[in-house]
Amino acid sequence: MSPFNLETCARPNILALEPYRCARDDYKDDGTNILLDANENACGPSLTPTAVEAASKGAGVDIDFLGLHRYPDPHQRDLKQLLCNLRNTHHYTPKVITPDNLFVGVGSDEAIDALLRCFCIPGRDRILVCPPTYGMYSVSAQVNDVGLVKIPLLEAPSFGLDVPKIRDALSTERDVKMIYLCTPGNPTGSLLDKEDVRQILEHPTWNGVVVLDEAYIDFAPDGTSLAEWVAEWPNLVVMQTLSKAFGMAGIRLGAAFTSAPIARLLNSLKAPYNVSSPTSALASYVTSGDGLAKMRENRERIVAQRERLLTELPKIKGIGRLRGGTQSNFLLYEMLNSSGEPDNTVALAVYETLAEDKGVVVRFRGKEHGCLGCLRITVGTEDEVTRFLAAIEQALIEVNGGRGGKRETPGEEDRKEIAANGVVA
Ligand SMILES: *Cc1c(COP(=O)(O)O)cnc(C)c1O
Repeated sequence: MSPFNLETCARPNILALEPYRCARDDYKDDGTNILLDANENACGPSLTPTAVEAASKGAGVDIDFLGLHRYPDPHQRDLKQLLCNLRNTHHYTPKVITPDNLFVGVGSDEAIDALLRCFCIPGRDRILVCPPTYGMYSVSAQVNDVGLVKIPLLEAPSFGLDVPKIRDALSTERDVKMIYLCTPGNPTGSLLDKEDVRQILEHPTWNGVVVLDEAYIDFAPDGTSLAEWVAEWPNLVVMQTLSKAFGMAGIRLGAAFTSAPIARLLNSLKAPYNVSSPTSALASYVTSGDGLAKMRENRERIVAQRERLLTELPKIKGIGRLRGGTQSNFLLYEMLNSSGEPDNTVALAVYETLAEDKGVVVRFRGKEHGCLGCLRITVGTEDEVTRFLAAIEQALIEVNGGRGGKRETPGEEDRKEIAANGVVA
């Protein structure tokens, strides 16, 4: 019997919410009704025929521009079914996930925040995070006045979960309602071991929720998503997004797979029209048919460039060890000083030289736990990788080669940069 009890774990004010219902849930719109129920604009959207024609041509997707004066569907069951189709692989369970197991929102960021509001009483409850990890968990916790318990990941390059410490913290620390885990991790690029996740889910006494952030899962080998495990566990949430492998960061669509009772709570607390109709249409396009095929094609291109970086970067003088894994669309590499040691001053100088002199922007992650001297490099197109490789080789020569390396010790600007880079991924 799982110690998880939704009635005592979720906030009472959230448990008391009823899912949003609109008049159109009671009276299905068959296209013949006059819709005078939602204070929309009867004259239609403020789009000229020319604009609609141009936009439709540009999109090539079934976006109903002339229907934009209507509110979008608050339930999004068709889109949810497409997302389920992607994840009902039956690798890990014979059970089936359905639209009742889903929340969709404005990126994973909305799910991260909605979960906090669902389970954590401000000023009292806390979440457990495992640094180095995605910055949004702690930002969202802070916004909600929710505290953090930090149990760092194991040393690089495994960046695995410290299961005994996590289980111990869940036994002894008070008011920990959720644990946010990122797999593949940002900035680690490592997949978590699913048996480690299982051991946390099997905690004998902890009444809380395990959140797995699978933002990068489609860059990992096929069949590694644990989304369908939500059919097995009452207290598991698996978040995914169209922002990364699907290349749709601009539409803002994230999903949380979970048990039907938790999904119901999340759907009750969300703003009813959080997913716009163009977002929904574009999301449906990329999660089926031609769009899905295009995603897979682009993913192959990125994976090929990831392999190329893994071959080429170690040949460059001043590039240190790869930290973490290769399951994502970025790599975490050490920058070395002239003595061959990973060094934050060098990493920052390389970061700045790349951005200011070479027009290549990467991410300094040297201040994150276990990431000394590290830059996080997103995998680009073939041409971008070619340019990047030349630029970083040159930057390392300039920084380390004595030919006027930018600076010896971190100055004021560096400290600002370190501070600024410390926040969100
Ligand atoms: C990029 C990223 C996301 C995506 O957030 P969206 O709001 O869906 O764009 C979520 N989690 C992690 C760890 C990420 O790196």
